[in-house]
Amino acid sequence: MIRLAIVSPCYNEHEVLYESAKRLTELLNDLIAKGKITKDSFILYVNDGSKDDTWDIICGLHASNRFVCGINLAHNVGHQNAIMAGMMTAKGRCDGVVTIDCDLQDDITAIERMIDLHANGIEIVYGVKVSRQADSFMKKFTAQTFYRIQSSMGVDAVYNHADFRFMSSRALNALAQYPERNLYLRGIIPTIGFRTATVDDVISERIAGQSKYSFSKMLRLASDGITSFSSKPMIIVLAAGTLMLISSLAMIVYVVISLLMGHYVPGWSSLMLSVWFIGSVITIGIGILGTYIGKMYTEIKHRPLYIVSDSLLHE
Ligand code: UDP
Ligand code: MG
Repeated sequence: MIRLAIVSPCYNEHEVLYESAKRLTELLNDLIAKGKITKDSFILYVNDGSKDDTWDIICGLHASNRFVCGINLAHNVGHQNAIMAGMMTAKGRCDGVVTIDCDLQDDITAIERMIDLHANGIEIVYGVKVSRQADSFMKKFTAQTFYRIQSSMGVDAVYNHADFRFMSSRALNALAQYPERNLYLRGIIPTIGFRTATVDDVISERIAGQSKYSFSKMLRLASDGITSFSSKPMIIVLAAGTLMLISSLAMIVYVVISLLMGHYVPGWSSLMLSVWFIGSVITIGIGILGTYIGKMYTEIKHRPLYIVSDSLLHE
């Protein structure tokens, strides 16, 4: 029997919290009855600086439901940092945590299988999306394209796994040693090691409300997912530069030969084209370099990932 913590980040989720707490409470009661988790297992909601009454609802749930705990972050730090805040708060208070979005799009019945795998010595269990029928075409397409680019860049991440996973207290202690500021958990956690496994995760619709992942938040996550783990983009720019150098040398040879043979080369449009082409490649190159330097800058500053302003916890 383990003491389980279910960590769930919430950003403006007042529409889903009651239903989410109800379903997770039923699940915990069921697992307690089956003798798989202890009675003092708990749900830890992380309020990620919501602008609505999410925190008030968590406080109300805490008063009426012995499973519900919560922490209130001082401001919005984003999904990844909110999960990290929850896991680090749960660390030392449990034997294992499951992280799950509070809209419960993930399959909560998979949690029991995660615990069973842990009982057999597995330290990290990844929920892997087997069906995305509830996701829109755009979501499916962008996610899949991203996973492909990521793996072609040599990032070692679990295909079709988001942040629905189980981690044992050993794995949590290992994660706590990572000093990263640009947090991309799906990339960091596979580098921890230990015995891992996957369980199937059938995605359903959100309980209620709209996605809280804005397009810019998604782009930032995708950029972190590649540039925090791979320096291939810089190598690609270097290769492009080398190719351009070779082709410009070839061009010089061509011009000299055509002059010697008495051909006149007017070529205004080809000149303009190459100027713009070279200009854009240089700009992209600087942009990619800038992304990496920006990352080093945030790592060096070493600011805290999140600040907890209130907490409602059992010991
Ligand atoms: N979330 C968060 N901080 C944010 C944005 C989202 O804690 O800045 C939470 C949100 O409440 C949800 C989870 O992260 O529990 C995933 O967000 P969402 O379901 O909106 O994303 P989607 O499933 O559409 O990718
Ligand atoms: Mg969701």
